[in-house]
Amino acid sequence: MIITRTKKELHRYLKLIRDAEKSVGFVPTMGALHEGHLSLIRCSNNENNFTVVSIFVNPLQFNNPEDLEKYPRNEERDLDILLSAFCDIVFIPDIREIYPEKDERVFDFDGLDKVMEGKYREGHFNGVAQVVSKLFEIVKPDKAYFGRKDFQQVAIIKFLNKNYLSHLNIDIVTCDTIREADGLAMSSRNELLDSVQRKSASLISKTLKKYTKIYESISKRELIDKITREINKDKNLKVEYVDIVDDETLRTVDKIKPGKTTVCVAVYCGKVRLIDNMPF
Ligand code: AMP
Repeated sequence: MIITRTKKELHRYLKLIRDAEKSVGFVPTMGALHEGHLSLIRCSNNENNFTVVSIFVNPLQFNNPEDLEKYPRNEERDLDILLSAFCDIVFIPDIREIYPEKDERVFDFDGLDKVMEGKYREGHFNGVAQVVSKLFEIVKPDKAYFGRKDFQQVAIIKFLNKNYLSHLNIDIVTCDTIREADGLAMSSRNELLDSVQRKSASLISKTLKKYTKIYESISKRELIDKITREINKDKNLKVEYVDIVDDETLRTVDKIKPGKTTVCVAVYCGKVRLIDNMPF
């Protein structure tokens, strides 16, 4: 596995790959790697000759300085995991490599960023677009891999790719959410939970699973209320939002269409903010 920290060095290796007419899959991450990230790497390895993984904790997408400061970082452990996952090249830039100048771009997502996460995390998706567009321009992969765990992010990335980065011709591939044995969606932030909170957190996916199965007998409003109440019953959990949205537009729907509608939640578990979603 090759470890690169500069664009210059990365480009040297990418040129060799391109000259040999081999394909490149790209998995952007913020590190603190887990099985969710590994599933994206496996998918990329299956579909491409080479896989590039980036590790970069992007300050521009953190609306909360405390969240940025506490974000788990463990490069040594990440490198061991990447080696065992058959990653070919890992790119670990520092902030000046990505933002040599102040990045003041403002993206228009046609409203996709005005709901759910966008409503509660001001500027978050603009920051995501800033870093992903920089990374795409640097790596220029054939395909890039994202997890459905970050449901709204996938919609934003697809929009960004189509409307701002079409010259790069990148295919966006979405991979399923990987869960712990008790159903909790894997997340780097789970590391920040204590053992009691960790136990409570499994109620989030359990509740979504229950109500995505029995939705037909309940109105949408009632469904949102029931999910909210059931999660809030645990004193360690506090729902920030529950929304039931169209998979394409992310707009709140009145009528649930199986295969086209998803329930999305954000829940505080102590100070740790967790998100999850499940299709109907
Ligand atoms: P992050 O390091 O949190 O920025 O995530 C990097 C990529 O891994 C994103 O595309 C995430 O959606 C994806 N990812 C994170 N957690 C999971 C999971 N539990 N299952 C599948 N993909 C995930």
